[in-house]
Amino acid sequence: MKIRIALLAAVALTGLVSACRSTSGDRAVETGTDTVDATLPTQLPRTAIPSHYAIEVTPHADTLAFDGRVAIDLKVIKTTRELVLNAVDLTVSQATLTPNGGQPVAAQVTADADKQTATFTFPSELKPGEYKLDIAYRGKINTQANGLFALDYTNVDGHQARSLFTQFEASDARRFVPSWDEPDYKATFDLTARVPATDMAVSNMPATESKDVGNGVKAVTFQTTPVMSSYLLFFASGDFDRITKMSAGREVGIVASRGNGDKARYALDAEAQILPYYNDYFGRPYALPKLDNVAGPGQSVFFDAMENWGAIFTFEKRLLLDPAISSEADKQAIFSIEAHEMAHMWFGDLVTMAWWDDLWLNEGFASWMANKTTQHFHPDWGGDIDQVSDRENAMGLDAFATTHPVVQPIRTVEQANQAFDSITYKKGQSVISMLEGFAGSDVWRQGIRDYMAKLAYKNSRTSDLWGAIEGAGAKGLMAVARDFTTQPGIPLVQLGASRCVNGQTVVPATLGQFSNDRRQQAAASPLTWHIPIRATAGGGSPSLQITNSHSATISAAGCGTLLINPGQTGYFRVLYTPEQAEALRRAFGSLQPVDQYGILADAFALSNAGYQPLSRSLDLLAGIPADAHAKIAERGIGDWAGLFRAMDGNPAAQIAIRNQAARSYWPRLQRLGFTPSEGDSALDALLRAELIADLGMLGEPHVVAEGQRLLVEMQRDPKALPGSLKTAWLGVIAQNADAKTWDVLHRMAAGARSATERSIYYALLASTKNDALARQALDLSLSKEPGATVSSGMISSVAQYHPTMALDFVLSHLAQVSPLIDLSSSSRFVAGLVQGSSDATLIPKIRAYAAAHIKPEDRRPIERSAARIQWNADNRPRIQREVVAWLKAHPING
Ligand SMILES: [Zn+2]
Repeated sequence: MKIRIALLAAVALTGLVSACRSTSGDRAVETGTDTVDATLPTQLPRTAIPSHYAIEVTPHADTLAFDGRVAIDLKVIKTTRELVLNAVDLTVSQATLTPNGGQPVAAQVTADADKQTATFTFPSELKPGEYKLDIAYRGKINTQANGLFALDYTNVDGHQARSLFTQFEASDARRFVPSWDEPDYKATFDLTARVPATDMAVSNMPATESKDVGNGVKAVTFQTTPVMSSYLLFFASGDFDRITKMSAGREVGIVASRGNGDKARYALDAEAQILPYYNDYFGRPYALPKLDNVAGPGQSVFFDAMENWGAIFTFEKRLLLDPAISSEADKQAIFSIEAHEMAHMWFGDLVTMAWWDDLWLNEGFASWMANKTTQHFHPDWGGDIDQVSDRENAMGLDAFATTHPVVQPIRTVEQANQAFDSITYKKGQSVISMLEGFAGSDVWRQGIRDYMAKLAYKNSRTSDLWGAIEGAGAKGLMAVARDFTTQPGIPLVQLGASRCVNGQTVVPATLGQFSNDRRQQAAASPLTWHIPIRATAGGGSPSLQITNSHSATISAAGCGTLLINPGQTGYFRVLYTPEQAEALRRAFGSLQPVDQYGILADAFALSNAGYQPLSRSLDLLAGIPADAHAKIAERGIGDWAGLFRAMDGNPAAQIAIRNQAARSYWPRLQRLGFTPSEGDSALDALLRAELIADLGMLGEPHVVAEGQRLLVEMQRDPKALPGSLKTAWLGVIAQNADAKTWDVLHRMAAGARSATERSIYYALLASTKNDALARQALDLSLSKEPGATVSSGMISSVAQYHPTMALDFVLSHLAQVSPLIDLSSSSRFVAGLVQGSSDATLIPKIRAYAAAHIKPEDRRPIERSAARIQWNADNRPRIQREVVAWLKAHPING
């Protein structure tokens, strides 16, 4: 799954912060297709194991209900009188169990809504052996992306239409079919769906048969799937177009609402391009006969895309390239999300984590693979720097005491949903990147191939992966890997004065732990890691050494400027002495962009946490060269924008920050121009949009004036704004809007046809800085107008500038807001609204909300936000003082 990191990750000061178990074979129980390990945490008693589901489903889209039948082949492994399956919001009308070669017996069914189970009780004991369980039931079609759900949209003819899709990860297959809905119960699936004869039905496998059953209904039957986990099953039905291509002997396709075929070309080409690369990388061809990616009109607070085997689901906004609204960033995101989801076809679908505590195996790997693939096919997109930016995103969470290890115990459905966070994805990705660097890319790939070969169609644990990679030749990898996946937090490499000895730089280092909110404790008793540390001096070839104690001596060939972690693949922070930091500042322009990025990131994180003065970071920021790499310029303007937000309530300081930012970046934007040009590189196009957005947010007068001019133009000619810059310019206009402008934007939103445009425009309406308009946006979010899946995004968008207002609004309208949030996000939506705030009075409010609505074991997101707010409240005054002092010492005439 590709989650919506933007909402869930570090916000604080934007830019500034921007238990391995081993497999115990003897306790495993043999089944027809796989083994089930009795030691795994589970909600279901291990008395029976399914091997095959034959499902028939008849959706009633107009009444948001469906009828289902399922016949499950299963093996009872322990004498029992009852079978317990997962089921929620399903009403069973009939259930019988037939022993192999025997007569059917009826079951009594009781549902437990809290445990999300249905218990089938029988008149006499079931002996171990093979059975078939037949169940007839009725279920609900949801309006958010959980289970079987509906998305409403305006179709190409201008009429209201409704399509159906499924979303099962982590634990929502049980809303579609009574099942052993845990990842290690792998089984095969047959699906037959009765849908309107004019619709197209899509599932994991190609259809084998489509039969007219009268009354305008057809029954579509799909080929049997390979053995797989229940969360990977998929079904969709609607008025779709499907475009296809052959790639490496497989049919790849994009399915989208009718009339959107052209917008799907880019994604289709990416899919066709990536497939052979993965066939080779994983050492085995894609396992299914076809691979679709299905576009859904709408959105989710929780995720962008889902790796159903053979039928990926992606929200339209992240799959279709629409020249009327898509930016360069959108285009790159389409490629990256495809690469992520396709990596799951092997890593996740073919080999699946045994339980959710190893979710990172799926997500960290897919995130890393997406970045690697992007760098392979688009070396000019700056993927190496994005990798560091992803690391920063993870470190933003990992620096707080409320973090968790990459591998973590998961006991509840809610905890499984919460596990989809930046630690799982981006720390996982960063650790893999570090380990690949340690192993060498060829050894690493061989280990992955061995792992795939050994565990195809099975379940795995983290230790299986390390074993395979060590086995391929990466000696010592296990120790590093274990430390970084089973311990939380970020190592801190603190350097002493360096010396030049016989043409070598020698520097003592103290190895501790970096922390935002428990600096003293971390310094007193830091964790230790096996850390692979690379170092260069004066640009010579890097040395590598592994440390695993609290002190070390690092050496590097040569005696020039010392740089630790060149290439930035190490997951740790580096604190230089003032002399070393000053040398790096002077050499900054000659360093690789990826190292410039890493140095800036470390500097600001260390300054914010109080490890070094902020002036050191501000000096670096102000010294970014005028012609810096586009990603460094993007980082620079982003840092100024973050500082501007952090100085709320001090308009004089904000003006000074705006002037600093404009001095560096307004000329850069002038050189790039306000409109796209023929000769633009991908990075130029990205940077232009960023500069417009950030300078506009800072209130830079030229940019704000151009926004106003464009708004007037656009009312005369809707095409006056180039599509690729529409979001950036409308963002500037919306944030600075007065009531009249807001009304103009509102009319645009209401008149927009495409689901993507609507969701963007309504979120923009909610991004206003103006209090009264923000209130208006909140009221609008509860009306029917934006659409069922768009409203929650509006509330989150209001929270960017008005966290207190958004929180109070949600708390006083809970009954209306709850149906607008996907179930998977229910325990963290409220927490996400306020994580950027520094208003400590919000902490008791969110805790009171949690006490009333969230079980104690599921409150981590609330505690995370509370910790972050408290930290902001404690540290923002100091940071503000340091910023003001620096601005005073570095005046420029605005
Ligand atoms: Zn994923």
